[in-house]
Amino acid sequence: MPRSEPIKAVRGVRDILPADLPRWRAAEQAARDVGHRFGYEEIVTPVLEHAELIERVGEDTDAVAKELYRFDDRGGRNLALRPEATAGVVRAYFEGGLNQGPQPSRLYLIGPMFRYDRPQKGRYRQFYQFNVEAIGGAEPALDSEVIELADAWLDEVGLGDLRLELNSIGDAKCRPAYLERLKAYYRPLKDQLHGECQLRLERNPLRLLDCKVPQCQPFKKDAPRITDFLCDECSAHWTSVLRLLDAASLEYVLNPYLVRGLDYYTRTVFEFYPGGASGQQDALASGGRYDGLAEAEGWPATPGVGFAGGVDRVTELMPIDSIPAKPPLDVLVIPDGDLAIEAAEVARICRAVGAVAVDYAPKSLKAKMRSANKLGARWVVLLTPDEAKRRVAQLRDMSSGDQVELDWVELPTRLA
Ligand code: AMP
Repeated sequence: MPRSEPIKAVRGVRDILPADLPRWRAAEQAARDVGHRFGYEEIVTPVLEHAELIERVGEDTDAVAKELYRFDDRGGRNLALRPEATAGVVRAYFEGGLNQGPQPSRLYLIGPMFRYDRPQKGRYRQFYQFNVEAIGGAEPALDSEVIELADAWLDEVGLGDLRLELNSIGDAKCRPAYLERLKAYYRPLKDQLHGECQLRLERNPLRLLDCKVPQCQPFKKDAPRITDFLCDECSAHWTSVLRLLDAASLEYVLNPYLVRGLDYYTRTVFEFYPGGASGQQDALASGGRYDGLAEAEGWPATPGVGFAGGVDRVTELMPIDSIPAKPPLDVLVIPDGDLAIEAAEVARICRAVGAVAVDYAPKSLKAKMRSANKLGARWVVLLTPDEAKRRVAQLRDMSSGDQVELDWVELPTRLA
């Protein structure tokens, strides 16, 4: 690359510029508020994990098989940038001794996730999630609690028009027999499935159900439905979750094709979509129960349930009125001449009461006043060499145009 070529951002990642940050902060603030209201505490885990932690629990998912951002560090450790938060949060729950405290441990995390996916609109290699986990509780009430929390978050950011899709995928007791039935149903149809589904048929048959390829669609409707084959425990759990959601007045659509490809996912799975959107649209949040995950990581068997909400997606769809206005700059200090030291001192004095910037650029007063207008400054403090010597300045109210001379020390009281 020639030296003069500017170095651009890494492919598939993006900057979040100041103009976009108010909506970003609003989505995060809503997440924190709602998390707090439901009794969840914030946790921060590293974006770096041992690749093995992710691989051990994630074989067969796209997020891991094809999309893991994996590399060797300088010490030769095989590391990964986390593709999702749950594996790390469950690890931290045990390593940090949260498993010894009151159960369940109610946790939330807001942060970046990484997937080496094909970059396209709305899908990035670094993206952000609001992640909620209730670890150490098997009660169906926790499933409905995290669903209600996800709904409350989306409602809070102005996305109240939602479609909640729901399914149960059973557990290690009842799923194997169901999978045999599913395979038996699909085997005679194998030649008519697309290539990847032909492989799924023996390797990961549940994923046949969420295939989006048109040629595989006609066979779904007659496929056996897992909710018809749940064991007594899973069936009781499923009925309770539905009753709890009814009691919470949460509307849902039962989707027998909503699945997860991994053994450690159990029972409830759910996804939130924007209301009225077609099935192809990205979910706003998705989650479910993962009673087998802790064990898959090598810890004692511990149930858990949670969801991940896509912050990028949510901020793109947030209606304007749920985005707080950008706070304007309170004061712009404009020195007229070589007065950097004095202007910096005036700014320091004014910062006691507000947001203050200084225009140090060697340009005309007129040009600086234009900048003040563009920045939306409420006040301008003008400073000439003569005024600086006397430790006074002109304070200009930018909306009325009124201007008064004040001692520097008087500025904070006038600005407050
Ligand atoms: P998942 O962890 O795949 O179930 O996704 C949970 C949420 O994260 C989804 O609802 C998406 O909105 C969001 N998400 C997943 N992958 C990406 C990506 N590559 N770029 C942006 N958002 C994503």
